[in-house]
Amino acid sequence: EKEKILQLKDKSATTKDGYKVDLWANIGNPSDVKAAGENGAEGVGLYRTEFLFMNSKELPTEEEQFKAYKIVAEEMKGKPVTIRTMDIGGDKELPYLELPKEMNPFLGWRAIRISLEKRDVFKTQLRAILRASAFGNIKIMYPMIISIGEVRKANTILEECKNELVAENIEFDKNIKTGIMVETPAVVLKAYEIAKEVDFFSIGTNDLTQYLLAVDRGNEKISYLYSTFNPAVLKAISIIINDAHRAGITVSMCGEFAGDERASAILIGLGLDAFSMSAGSILKVKRNIMSLKKESCEKIANEVLLLDTDDEVVEYVEKNLKLI
Ligand code: PEP
Ligand code: MG
Repeated sequence: EKEKILQLKDKSATTKDGYKVDLWANIGNPSDVKAAGENGAEGVGLYRTEFLFMNSKELPTEEEQFKAYKIVAEEMKGKPVTIRTMDIGGDKELPYLELPKEMNPFLGWRAIRISLEKRDVFKTQLRAILRASAFGNIKIMYPMIISIGEVRKANTILEECKNELVAENIEFDKNIKTGIMVETPAVVLKAYEIAKEVDFFSIGTNDLTQYLLAVDRGNEKISYLYSTFNPAVLKAISIIINDAHRAGITVSMCGEFAGDERASAILIGLGLDAFSMSAGSILKVKRNIMSLKKESCEKIANEVLLLDTDDEVVEYVEKNLKLI
């Protein structure tokens, strides 16, 4: 069984009727690239850089960060590597940044909000990413965006870093692509306008589900309410993909939902371009996608959007899974 699925490693994730998607890996450390390669990942869809910060006693220097990003870019050999800027805060602490204790850390000072305020910290990271972009195919992704203003501010700081590197005669990819995590309801409602200002979207279903349903993703007491199969969340995903495509950009998904086999048919049906997940899930999802037909998936997606509860959606897709 294990050997059989390994044979899919170098096959493309294409449905029976010829619709191809990209399957990427989520990584937290450069050492995760090995598993990505072993499972045939066509790129890194999410490099969670905060581990680099959390595993250190003080702020990692530009040089330390550059080395980590460069290794990943080189080992992926020209395949896309999406580096997410620091997503600290929420449940992720950093003693040396002295984050204040907050009543609602998930609604507080986290991710891009910290980066835009601590410009030095942000610039150090952006310079390191830019420098590494000379060694592979790197893209930059901003987390926890809620408005177009934040995107513009982040990109202005990025331009500043690029200008510095030009002045210092340091190589980087002049055409580096920038995108955002779509993980807040505000961005869903403004998806079209924001899509016109970035190169790509990546849907973070872990946070998007939490914020759309107002259900703390870590609270066991209410975990029965936390489901990305909730038709409201599926409708949000549908809006994001449609609006992004209308604006001419691609959409990937890097939340846990992308690696859930029960979700593949819905996501193919909704038109998702790329799936990013932990390396261990890639081949199973690929096998599943190769057994599907885009046309039937579109019908499934349309039908589940009309259902009333997450249980009904899960029941529906599980029935359909058994048919194939
Ligand atoms: C997400 O929110 O879906 C996501 C991928 O980011 P994280 O799980 O790191 O918050
Ligand atoms: Mg998130």
